[in-house]
Amino acid sequence: MPVLMIDTHIDIPWEEKTAGGLPCWEKRDQADIALRETERRFTLPKAEAGGLGAACLAAYTPQASLDEAGHEAAWRRARAMLEAMEEMVPLHVPGRAVLCRTAQDVRRTAGAGQVALIPVMENGYPLADDPAKVGHLARRYGIRYITLTHNGHNLLADSAVVRQGPAEAHGGLSALGREVIGEMNRHGVLVDVSHASRRTMMQAVDVSTVPVFASHSCVRALCDHPRNLDDGQLDALKASGGLIQVTAMAPFLRRGGGGTLTDFVEHVLYVIRRIGVEHVGISSDFDGGGGMEGWQDASESHHLPAALERAGLDGSEIRAVCGENMLHLMERAEKEIVESQT
Ligand SMILES: [Zn+2]
Repeated sequence: MPVLMIDTHIDIPWEEKTAGGLPCWEKRDQADIALRETERRFTLPKAEAGGLGAACLAAYTPQASLDEAGHEAAWRRARAMLEAMEEMVPLHVPGRAVLCRTAQDVRRTAGAGQVALIPVMENGYPLADDPAKVGHLARRYGIRYITLTHNGHNLLADSAVVRQGPAEAHGGLSALGREVIGEMNRHGVLVDVSHASRRTMMQAVDVSTVPVFASHSCVRALCDHPRNLDDGQLDALKASGGLIQVTAMAPFLRRGGGGTLTDFVEHVLYVIRRIGVEHVGISSDFDGGGGMEGWQDASESHHLPAALERAGLDGSEIRAVCGENMLHLMERAEKEIVESQT
């Protein structure tokens, strides 16, 4: 039986900041999504060659100033990136990819031999202090998760990685952050705790009515990096029914960098032993710094199920890790939308 493989975190290439240090909102041409020979690690021909069925594409915003200029630039950028994703398919890869909003859309698209693209947002910074933006983004663009923070605190929550300033700004989630999680739950938008501080993550598990997930993080017990989840966090994730998507970021896999597919599989196996096979998945962080020996770009995605098979996983376990766990979590979030509308 074929494996429906979902890579839960991929960036789209974009200029980081303006000369003035604000998040850049100017559209970047996405024609290279159609190319096989290009530096871009995720493209349609590469996904097709690697047997990748679905990919979460992130509208990522770098953290900048917590003032009106910063928030306005971030909001413009996030929408421009989501519009670029919408335009990408008809402009460059018509008939080969479909922008998907539900787990059922993803299954149908992958089943038809097309690549399912799932729009998501990395960093809650563009929301500024307005929780209503969550509903707008969900309805207008169909985003399926929001990563609460990037590197640096925003108005919602504290981040795991802080380049300057105090280690904490809110002691985890702010009151606004809690309100935003409520909005995310109501609109079927998953709460992504990758990049969040430990305290933010543990509080999000308590606040969210839908299990939280880490879209691109690894295991702290195997590699002591602030972006990774420790055993207590994994246990909390299990208790909530959540999911950690081990990521192909070499410095998160092995201390000092140089992590490979072998290390990646070790992280997956660790999560399975600690909290069970239904709580782990896969992500690359391609075009956002991810990629390692054994999974350099989307054309090598088929190496993952093969490596998991060599590690002793059976067919149903491989399908769970490679995509089914994520689809089940999306279905769980979708159920909440229906329930909150009745
Ligand atoms: Zn990231």
